[in-house]
Order: sequence, then structure tokens, then C-alpha cells
Amino acid sequence: MNYNKKSIEDIQVAGKRVLCRCDFNVPTKDGKITSDKRIVAAMPTIEYLVNQGAKVILCSHMGKPKGEWKPELSLKVVAERISQLLGKEVIMASDVAGEDSKAKAAALRDGDVMLLENTRYIKGETKNDPELSKALSELADIFVNDAFGTAHRAHSSTAGVADYLPAVSGYLVQKEVSIMGKALANPERPFVAILGGAKVSDKLNVINNLLEKVDTLIISGGMAYTFLAAQGYNVGKSLVDNEKLEYCKEMMAKAEAKGVKLLLPADTAVADSFPNPIDAQLAVDYVDCTAIPEAKMGLDIGPKACEAFAAAAKAAKTVVWNGPMGVFENPTLAKGTIAVAQALADSEAVTIVGGGDSAAACEQLGFADQITHISTGGGASLEFLEGLELPGIACLQDK
Ligand code: ADP
Ligand code: MG
Repeated sequence: MNYNKKSIEDIQVAGKRVLCRCDFNVPTKDGKITSDKRIVAAMPTIEYLVNQGAKVILCSHMGKPKGEWKPELSLKVVAERISQLLGKEVIMASDVAGEDSKAKAAALRDGDVMLLENTRYIKGETKNDPELSKALSELADIFVNDAFGTAHRAHSSTAGVADYLPAVSGYLVQKEVSIMGKALANPERPFVAILGGAKVSDKLNVINNLLEKVDTLIISGGMAYTFLAAQGYNVGKSLVDNEKLEYCKEMMAKAEAKGVKLLLPADTAVADSFPNPIDAQLAVDYVDCTAIPEAKMGLDIGPKACEAFAAAAKAAKTVVWNGPMGVFENPTLAKGTIAVAQALADSEAVTIVGGGDSAAACEQLGFADQITHISTGGGASLEFLEGLELPGIACLQDK
């Protein structure tokens, strides 16, 4: 995939009707937004378009209404919040690309902002229905995609509409594509990838693709135990994907053939069973991964592994991290994840965090500001790391 895509700065937007797909899929409770992070993140693109004198038509999905007009998933609350942040009115359409949207889009003056209703109120959205794509395109002259979180989906408002309009990226998508694209296509070396999370099967293709690119691949979190089992160690009650033992062997052989250093944790925190996340008194032992007791379950990396992984991150020029090192939801088992987050924060390298849980962990633990880039799309960043073509990015004009 070509990562060199045009952005809003590469196209004349003044006086034009610009349909801008954002990620306004914000959490709400009792009709109130509980985190406006995604709206705040979209503001630079919106402000640029307004300041350039574009007629701005925003759209997004929220939740999963599956083609039903569920009032609790209306974007009205989002329009109010954007309006507060912008300090100007945001005109709310009562439909997605219907009569009301058309009339309101036609009446926009330069610098005006309007918001369409939840795109997933229309069944055709998630089917990439050309009828909806066309209707959306008829509202505007230019399409801007600034929603990375849905860029791996070929939906009408994320990709289909680009069949009918010139399409470029907004600032958020541009940042995602340029930083992660560079890391994958032309990284500064040493390039270290740190993979964790629960299951090997979730990240099969990521492991396979990253082995083509990196100098060091660290496999940790719940995935480590399947690799350790494939090496012939007894891992007790730890999470093992028995169907993936062969795959792990293949990956270890591939790493060897490619000269990639593959690191597994040397030690691990073990407990009797899977913990309750809020059990702050959880009793754990630390043992070497070559000597996990039969009755125990590995739930975090130990101090030796923390040190080794931190050293690898420190020596790197590019680090990509996806997936927590342990069951970080429990504070006793968050030590490995904290150590890796700290190492990335301290590293001089370009540091990139993808994956919903790892990104959340960095934010909760307070390391977000010290990391070069935390991806805004869990699923999308994973597909990016797999080397897949993302429809919401592939549809944008090349530079
Ligand atoms: P991400 O969203 O960052 O891609 P994943 O969704 O793949 O990460 O994995 C996150 C989950 O992995 C967390 O809920 C965490 O509790 C779990 N996990 C990490 N280590 C282990 C382990 N040793 N055993 C079981 N689950 C684990
Ligand atoms: Mg996850």
C-alpha cells in the first residue's frame, strides 16, 4: 500500500463543500458524552477547514444502530460539543444524506459547519451501498477521511463515497499513515516490535508480517506461553493455544532464517487462577518461564523480562508496541505493562502504540504524552501492522 497520501493541505478547500468523515463514536451515558477525546482530536481538521473558508459537512457513526433510528445514538450531543469547542453554531441535519441534509448543505456559507446524523442509521452504510455513497457524495465537492478507527472498514462514508469525489486525508489520518507507514516501509533501525495481549490467534498475521520488517520481535503477554509450549516447556495452567503450536514453531524458524532476534520473557508472575481484576490483594510468585509450576498460571512478565525488554526498547530507533504484557487490569499484574510503557516513554526512539488495550493502558498509566504516537484505531492499527490495505486509506489520492 502507498502511504504517501494527499491531505487537506494538498487540495484547494476554500469555498468548496467538504464532506469530512470523523470518528465521533464517543461513549455516552444518560444522553451525556462521558469522554469527548475523539471530538477534541478531530478539532484541528475541522478548524483548518473552517479557517480556510470551506463549507464543512461532518459525518460519523456512533454505536451500532444497525439501520435503525435509535434516538439514543443521535449525533445531536456531538454537534453541541463541537459547537462549544469551535465557538460557533454547528447545524444539525435530521437525516444522513436525505432531503434535510441536501437542503442544509446547499444553504451553507463559507466557514459554516454542519453535521449529518449517525451514518449507521442507514442500512447501506456498513454494506458500502453505492446508493448511499452516491447520495453522500452529492452533498459535497471533496471527501476528507479523518476517521482512522474505521479506516479498515469499506463502508459508504469511509471509502465508498471516494468513488465519486476527490478524496484526501485529514490531520488525524495523515498522522497515523505517515508515522506508522514510515515505521513499516522505511524504519530507522534497530526496529523493535513488542507484541502482547491475550491470544496468538488474534495476531497471527501481525507476527508474520513484522518478522519481515523488524530487527527484534518481543512476544509477550498471554501469547508468550504458546511460544514457550512450542519450545517444549511446561507452562502449567497458562493460556496456551494448542492449535497454534505448529504456527509458533514456524515463526521461530522464520525469525532464525531472517536473522530476527525473537525474545520471549525469561520470567513470569504466576497465580493459582485467573484473577479478579479488582482483587488488589492478589498473591503472586515470580518464577522462570522454564520452571512454571504445573498448578500455576502465568499472568504477567517478571522483573528479568522487564529489564530485557526495556533494554531492547532503549537501544531501538523505532519501537512498535501492541498488546499489554500481562493482565494489567489487575494492579498487581500491571507491572510488566508499566515497565514497557516506561521504557517507551524514556526511549529516544520513535515510539508507536497500537491496539485498544495497550493504548488505554498508556493513557491510564500516564505515559501518553511521552510516546510519539498512540494510534486512535485498535482494529485499524492491527490491520496496518498486518500489512493489509485499509480501504479508508487506499481510497485517498496519492501524492
Ligand atoms: P490490544 O487491545 O492492545 O491489541 P489485546 O486485546 O490483544 O490487546 O489483549 C489485551 C488483553 O490481554 C488484556 O485484557 C489482558 O488482560 C490480556 N492478557 C495479557 N496477558 C495475559 C496473560 N498472561 N494471560 C491472559 N490474558 C492476558
Ligand atoms: Mg483489545
